Amino acid sequence: MTYPNEPKPDIVSIRLRRVKYVRSIDRVPQIPPEQREVLNAVAQRYAFRANDYYLGLIDWNDPDDPIRQLIIPRPEELHDWGRLDASNEAAVSVAPGVQHKYDHTVLLLCNEVCGAYCRYCFRKRLFMDENEEVTRDVSEGIRYIAGNPNVTNVLLTGGDPLLMSTRRIREILESLRAIPHVRIIRIGSKMPAFDPWRIINDAELQDVFRSNSTRRNRVYLMAHFDHPRELTDPAVEAIDCAIRCGLICVNQCPLIRGINDDPVVLSNLFRELSFIGCPPYYLFQGRPTAGNQPYAVPIVQGWEIFRAALRSGSGLSRRARFVMSHATGKVEISAVDERHIYLRYHRAKDPALRGQFMIYHRNDDALWLDELEPADESSPRFEHTSPLGVDEGPE
Ligand code: SF4
Repeated sequence: MTYPNEPKPDIVSIRLRRVKYVRSIDRVPQIPPEQREVLNAVAQRYAFRANDYYLGLIDWNDPDDPIRQLIIPRPEELHDWGRLDASNEAAVSVAPGVQHKYDHTVLLLCNEVCGAYCRYCFRKRLFMDENEEVTRDVSEGIRYIAGNPNVTNVLLTGGDPLLMSTRRIREILESLRAIPHVRIIRIGSKMPAFDPWRIINDAELQDVFRSNSTRRNRVYLMAHFDHPRELTDPAVEAIDCAIRCGLICVNQCPLIRGINDDPVVLSNLFRELSFIGCPPYYLFQGRPTAGNQPYAVPIVQGWEIFRAALRSGSGLSRRARFVMSHATGKVEISAVDERHIYLRYHRAKDPALRGQFMIYHRNDDALWLDELEPADESSPRFEHTSPLGVDEGPE
């Protein structure tokens, strides 16, 4: 598969690149001057950040280009819609930067910056000046994990952990590795897509990966590719490098309007990911996060796209589960028929709900679990917090 803006497969140039970051719409010359005022207003509210490599993947002749949709603000983001913390992550924060929702897994939000900012980000609140959910000092989180022997999995997230200095990444990984009950360390990162050279060019980081991903206790790279055009030669090189350093790679991404809400695109993404050793893990229903109205896909439509995408490819390319990260747990969208939507708790905050199967009346407009009406007595009804009303704006 070739793409019009893909860098040439020249390993020497792949290894030498350094990206230049851009934080102002005015520094993107391809955006016409007449669009800048409104897009700057959007970026004032929901931060903009990109880099020359990723901007270079955009086909600027196509106003609907998916890479453009992913990174360039849209005026519709300013519509009053959604909540900043749509899954109520605040409710599972046990200390600054530490989330503990499921028994075995703790999240450390250790960085509040990403290689670029996805417009549909569900944690865009972290990029706002007044937000203090991320902590640069993870010592309290490390102590919390050390004191909870049930915790076998730790997910480093943010923001993007791979944007931290290599020294800090080493300190955190070594602190976690010193805790015997921590078996899996996951690094959630879109750097292989936004800046593959962060991995390719840093021999010390590669050494950190090698020494902390051991035979019995692996480090996982939870990559985040949304579209097959992100799988350029440098991106594939970054995944290859991570694999050679002993990391296990998988991919998770949301289903996003205008980016990957097409069975052919999604199927190609899943298949290519399986070929490079980074098979799909989760496909997320987009959370009703403030600013995300232009990126939202209804549950039923998302299910149809997902099902159609799974019609081709090997088993490895069809491993993804289509899930909603609801405040109460990870809810798998198992099936849809003419009358009903069938859901199942894949993970649940309340142990009593684990594995529970639920049936709801089909609603083709619904974007989130809270909007669905139970079709039987055993399926819970959730408090309806309409995504069409802002309950916590940035101002
Ligand atoms: S990489 Fe993840 S955290 Fe960062 S902007 Fe994109 S979705 Fe948000």
